[in-house]
Amino acid sequence: MATIDGATLLARSLKTQGVDFMFGIVGFPVHAIANAAQREGIRYIGMRNEQSAAYAAQAAGYLTGRPQACLTVTGPGVIHAIAGLANAQSNCWPMILIGGASPTYQDGMGSFQEEHQVEAVRQFCKYAARVDSVARIPYYVEQAVRSSFYGRPGPVHLDVPDDIIRGQAEEEDLQLKARVPDAPRIPAPAENVEAALATIRSAERPLVIVGKGMAWARAEDDVREFVERTQVPFLATPMGKGIVPDDHPLSVGAARSYALQNADVVFLLGARFNWILHFGLPPRFDPNVRVVQLDIAPEAIGTNVPAEVALVGDGKAILGQLNRALQAQPWEYPTETRWRSGIADKIAANRAQTEPLLNDDSVPMGYYRVLREIRDVMPRNAILVNEGASTMDIGRQVLPNYLPRTRLDAGTYGTMGVGLGDAIAAAVVHPDRHVFCVEGDAAFGFSGMEVETACRYNLPITFIIVNNNGIGGGPSEFKADTPIPPSAFTPQAHYELMAEAFGGRGYFVERPDQLRSALESAIADPKPAIVNVMISNRSRGKPQEFHWMSTMAAH
Ligand code: ADP
Repeated sequence: MATIDGATLLARSLKTQGVDFMFGIVGFPVHAIANAAQREGIRYIGMRNEQSAAYAAQAAGYLTGRPQACLTVTGPGVIHAIAGLANAQSNCWPMILIGGASPTYQDGMGSFQEEHQVEAVRQFCKYAARVDSVARIPYYVEQAVRSSFYGRPGPVHLDVPDDIIRGQAEEEDLQLKARVPDAPRIPAPAENVEAALATIRSAERPLVIVGKGMAWARAEDDVREFVERTQVPFLATPMGKGIVPDDHPLSVGAARSYALQNADVVFLLGARFNWILHFGLPPRFDPNVRVVQLDIAPEAIGTNVPAEVALVGDGKAILGQLNRALQAQPWEYPTETRWRSGIADKIAANRAQTEPLLNDDSVPMGYYRVLREIRDVMPRNAILVNEGASTMDIGRQVLPNYLPRTRLDAGTYGTMGVGLGDAIAAAVVHPDRHVFCVEGDAAFGFSGMEVETACRYNLPITFIIVNNNGIGGGPSEFKADTPIPPSAFTPQAHYELMAEAFGGRGYFVERPDQLRSALESAIADPKPAIVNVMISNRSRGKPQEFHWMSTMAAH
């Protein structure tokens, strides 16, 4: 009678469920799983730290639309990967963590790297279970994958003990499972669709806010149709950028604060009133703002600000309902209103304020000048990974996105160090596109060793390090008799040599005229590159009108 081993059955079940990518680190007891994954046609990417492997898995889940896998060894491996689970949970992205576990027959005996893994990960997961027999592996994989991406997406965990990985099952005893279909697209009740349109029609100063839930829902065509049918101005959240292109005439991205403060009706699409949107509260919002909220999770409705109308269900399905209702009974927000002219004036004023910073030839350079050069060389379909404090905040303003799911940043959890894993995921999911990983030197340092991963797989990533010598800027030299400031890193560190150490290209840039040519040759070369750009340690974002904008608005 034919038998199958646990590792092969696990890999085959994952592949059946649409897991095409696995990011991991091998060791006891999961080596056999990685080998089996390669045999079963899963692309295995060996990373240098489980944290980055988990970050890569959750980004790949967001980019592909199904959970992708992170593979770790027992104990410390799983613990390192919790960072990725937490990040995935906070961003509502799917992923599946496969954690090796010590053998069941040594439970509680102080086994090598023994840990109560299921308990440790549970609060970060939608589903966490220990696989209890080889034959039931397909059952557990199906449960985990379905839980991860049905409803509000999130991370899941399977704990796989050594003796199950190495164990055998008779093929006739297996509980095989078919591929989980794509998540059902649940529409909203017709009366809520009507009520939502009535509220939007009644607005004097309407604003659509487009969040990354709509990017996950693949609702880009539907959102664009909605804003074009209604002609209502829209604002993208940081990772909602590109669902409708940033250069669309209805985008109010360049007048963000004005739009948020003055809107009287906000249509919140797949976004949350958390810190990124200033909780939906004054002083960033009108205290009397009326809210129409669309979300797949009923419990999200009314968080921080009550919703006048709730549309609970799938973003793409509901936008389809709204568009059909508008087709039957067209309505457009008027062309000439004080709201539109106020937004246009503010956009013009903000652009005039930023223009000199973008063109500033000073040495050392400031953020705006560096980011402008990156903006000018980025192809329209590029994927942008952007993290760091000012590098990310100013990057959100200066670096445009034209397509959905082309911006990956520190996200809802504000995780620094997520970028290199995200960039590697983006490059393997979209091998036809160029990835720009624009990092502050501090953010880069959390996961810098993943440059070796990018070089090993020859991924088309240009890492650009905006280097101000520390966290929020450090001195350009240390004083002999003074302690090193807590925020400082090695002055003028030559991070670009890290790429060269692994066969990639390195560029060290100090002046604006060097930057363009360094970027162009980095992009033209198929090898990954680091462009290390020294900037002034005093460079900051443009001053905000009110203090509370800069303290609360890290994004
Ligand atoms: P952003 O960071 O862009 O503001 P958030 O991550 O805060 O976005 O919010 C995304 C929201 O989208 C979550 O509340 C999540 O429940 C919701 N969401 C996820 N999938 C869907 C979907 N298919 N349709 C509608 N909403 C969704």
